[in-house]
Amino acid sequence: MKRKNLLALLAFLVATAALSAQTQVIAHRGYWRAPGAAQNSIVALQRADQIKCFGSECDVLQTRDGVLVVNHDAHIGPDKILIEEADYDQIKDIVLSNGETVPTLQQYLKELKKCKNTLLVLEIKEHSTDQKMIRATRDIVKMVNRMGLKKKVYYISFMPTICDELVRIAPKSQVAYLSNKMTPRQVKERGYTGVDFHYSQFQKNPLWVRECHELGLNVNVWTVNTEELMNQMLDLGVDFITTDYPEVLQKVIFERKLHGIF
Ligand code: MG
Repeated sequence: MKRKNLLALLAFLVATAALSAQTQVIAHRGYWRAPGAAQNSIVALQRADQIKCFGSECDVLQTRDGVLVVNHDAHIGPDKILIEEADYDQIKDIVLSNGETVPTLQQYLKELKKCKNTLLVLEIKEHSTDQKMIRATRDIVKMVNRMGLKKKVYYISFMPTICDELVRIAPKSQVAYLSNKMTPRQVKERGYTGVDFHYSQFQKNPLWVRECHELGLNVNVWTVNTEELMNQMLDLGVDFITTDYPEVLQKVIFERKLHGIF
């Protein structure tokens, strides 16, 4: 190969490596659009791993009797039972749309252990009191650590009470703040490691991505579901994109590499 061609090839490879290191795909509530999956189901986590997502997001709440369950809404099932005021027995047989029963966090983490490609982006949900949120946070961190999964779990939350507690009890973990109520500088001052903002925050403040990086924060963005938005966020150089369409995002990233867009 001629020297010029070789240099061009090397430049391409370096650039593509830089891109793949730059923006990673996170499947929102798992890859739940895959056959046989449902939002926050164990199958959705398995499917995200199978298509080699960098991360699979899930939501965690705690029952009154202390069981951690994976579910997005505060209420669950046809009777709309409020999880934080229910005992686990009352909700354990509730079935997701794919036929699975509602997973506990312990079941979810056991499955995570088997994942070869995917880490878990674990959202700790709002509970009605600080006391409940702190109990849930401590119990989650204890379980993650006990199962040897410290490095395979990134934490996210809308609640400063939860993020603050995470910084205190899991100081080496990734902790990103989800709400639009803080600027990057405020997030940094509280000791969090990243932001995980709605994409509109970055449309309003496109310089925030650079500011985050200068502050040493990493940048995740939710929930980016169209190719147009995916390209916008890739142009801004975010570190992670959270999407309900992980395979579409993988295709967009692949095509950008082919066209040398970084
Ligand atoms: Mg979530």
